[in-house]
Amino acid sequence: MGLFIGLDLGGTNLKYALGTKSGELIIKSSRPSLADREQAAIFKNIYAGIEELLEAAAKQNETVTAIGFGSPGSIHFEKGQLIGSTPNIPAWTDAPIKKNIEKRFHITTWADNDANVVALAEARLGAGKGYPNALFLTLGTGIGGGIILNHQLLRGAHHSAAEVGHVIVEFNGRPCNCGNHGCLEAYASAPAMVARYRKKLKRTGVEYKINDLSTELIFHKAAMNEDLAKQTIQEACNYLGAGIASIVNVIDPDIVIIGGGVSEAGPEFITAIETEVKKYAIKAIARDLKVINASLGNDAGVVGAIFLAAENVKP
Ligand SMILES: [Zn+2]
Repeated sequence: MGLFIGLDLGGTNLKYALGTKSGELIIKSSRPSLADREQAAIFKNIYAGIEELLEAAAKQNETVTAIGFGSPGSIHFEKGQLIGSTPNIPAWTDAPIKKNIEKRFHITTWADNDANVVALAEARLGAGKGYPNALFLTLGTGIGGGIILNHQLLRGAHHSAAEVGHVIVEFNGRPCNCGNHGCLEAYASAPAMVARYRKKLKRTGVEYKINDLSTELIFHKAAMNEDLAKQTIQEACNYLGAGIASIVNVIDPDIVIIGGGVSEAGPEFITAIETEVKKYAIKAIARDLKVINASLGNDAGVVGAIFLAAENVKP
């Protein structure tokens, strides 16, 4: 069947890999994504990554059957094109990913939202393997997500399903990056946790080098039993519990998978989220629902992009 190429475009790096249809990586690499450059330069950089992998495949006497691509933003799946803009890559607005890559390489290409692609990887090969229905959340600078129903990604009528960071957890609440108020992302993302902790420190008059605050530090302080840090984490877990429960009450998944930088805080954090989710979810769902850590780490994006290519290409 040949091999597959998976690419994962982020605000900092473009990761790319060559792999088999079952998600086994043969070669993986990365380069700066040139996110502050014009669109043509970003594409040129992507082409260079693809060329590198095509040469590697040719050396092994292998061909590349299809290319998969994970990108931030809402993606029109059939067109393989960005819908509007994405904040961390300003020139990426309306980027015709599928069209440009196919024109350049004559290899069928599929593009999807980056969190969707990671959810696909976790569902096929990671923490969600064997479960037909999964809710995936990525906790970091923002809160993204993906929903797998009956083993398939839910994309929605407007190519924007699973925007889990924008579930409303507080009426008339804090402003969110999306323009709305009271979204989960405004309360439980990494910057939101840091802002909350900073506020608590200020209130008690604790002097601290405020620029050095990070979620790593908050989790570290909590591990040292510092009350304000523990409160900050518990409050984030309360919001995550309410937000996640609102979604699981609608889709009734087998499992909830938590990924992204903040999720690396450790098993206690995941358990605390699970406790809160079960508090708010309806009993029939809460009884057997599991909240678990994502397992594929940094490779999830390219692995998911390879699955995206392998599963959509016509045999
Ligand atoms: Zn929002």
